[in-house]
Amino acid sequence: MIDPDVFDLDFEGHLKRVAELTDDVLIPAEAEMVETGAVPEHVMEALARGGLFGISIPRALGGLQWNMTQQVRMTMEFTRASCVYRSRFASVIGLCSQAILDHGTEEQCKRMLPGMAAGELITAFALTEPGAGSDAGSLTTTARRGKDGGWVIDGHKRYITNAHWADELVVFARTGSSREGAGGVSAFLVPRRSRGLETRPATRMNGHAEAPVAEITFTSVEVDDSALLGDRLGGGFPAALRGINHARLHVAATCVGQATRILEETAEHLLGRDQFGAPLADLGAVQADLGECFAELEAARALTVAAAEDFDTGSIPRHRIAAAKLFSTEMASRVADRCVQLLGGEGIVGDHPVPRMWRDVRALRIYEGSSPIHERNLGRAVVRQVRSDGTLPDTYRVTGRQTV
Ligand SMILES: Cc1cc2nc3c(=O)[nH]c(=O)nc-3n(C[C@H](O)[C@H](O)[C@H](O)COP(=O)(O)OP(=O)(O)OC[C@H]3O[C@@H](n4cnc5c(N)ncnc54)[C@H](O)[C@@H]3O)c2cc1C
Repeated sequence: MIDPDVFDLDFEGHLKRVAELTDDVLIPAEAEMVETGAVPEHVMEALARGGLFGISIPRALGGLQWNMTQQVRMTMEFTRASCVYRSRFASVIGLCSQAILDHGTEEQCKRMLPGMAAGELITAFALTEPGAGSDAGSLTTTARRGKDGGWVIDGHKRYITNAHWADELVVFARTGSSREGAGGVSAFLVPRRSRGLETRPATRMNGHAEAPVAEITFTSVEVDDSALLGDRLGGGFPAALRGINHARLHVAATCVGQATRILEETAEHLLGRDQFGAPLADLGAVQADLGECFAELEAARALTVAAAEDFDTGSIPRHRIAAAKLFSTEMASRVADRCVQLLGGEGIVGDHPVPRMWRDVRALRIYEGSSPIHERNLGRAVVRQVRSDGTLPDTYRVTGRQTV
């Protein structure tokens, strides 16, 4: 449950509360998380009480309703702590809640969103399959009509964040009602404890180790008619993209938070480590590395905030969001890699947080669209748009193309 007084805070007040939570609870609990191999329960409770599950959900449905610019600023703050914490509630605030909010029925919104905002109803977003990763439109999980109405789901999903802890899953399945590809896919709200539904967490993770993704198998899982998201057949992909675009911008913000902490921790180390008779931080070559990291970090911050501000004007600037996701995730890996180098042996041996974060941020270049997929899609969009009217996608130009 969100602490009642959080609802009385204005955005800057809540941001300050979240910054304090990050410094006083989240960062200090990282050692316990690594030691036990799981996000501690008291941290999950603190996240829920602090309102983190509810930042994107309307006040009328129990959330805090911060706009996208505010959400990314807040994300940049709490992701100075391990991004594993975020992955325990990311599927609620971005992927699932936004798909339900914009594509669900009024009944589904009222049934799901207040519990999600409070951190009491955990959801997972089940799109990826063994044969359908980057090419998600080729998924083969099916939902067919049951003998007595309702739907029967069969199939296999993998790499699903929070599936093992979730109360409900947003499942994308082929209803075969219309075209092949993405057009014949619908979304369903499926209780995780349904008969015939099994989840198995990954036994080994390289990065994000304390929040393993899971596989899900569906063997004739029966759900009733009210499970169809939005009451509309074939509407699965628009709903998925609504959640995914939201989540991509949050991932971009996460990379800014992670790189901020990585750079601060590294500079701190360099100030305290003397070699050749002086702190490493005084060496010109080391400062050049730090300067380059800082410039890249600030470019990612500016791009992410600009995309969020666009989002808040009403339309979803999907190309600019993809650019922010691509640039920020690559930036975080570059910054982390340089900082591991600057730490020397401590970047590989021992408990310094930077090498752990270096492993964690690697995954961010793979989910919510891998970097090569974003490069390909952005390149295609540039060619398509220039061919059509001579401008760039989501262009900032205030006039049309000048024809000669
Ligand atoms: C930690 C983690 C959490 C995840 N959470 C979720 C979740 O909650 N829900 C969910 O549904 N999914 C989730 N995923 C799945 C994620 O979205 C997929 O891993 C991603 O879409 C890539 O699919 P794939 O792993 O099958 O890679 P593949 O599709 O096999 O692609 C492998 C690589 O090939 C390259 N590639 C593929 N196609 C192209 C192309 N057309 N052009 C150029 N290069 C290409 C890219 O480099 C890509 O990274 C998660 C994954 C991870 C690692």
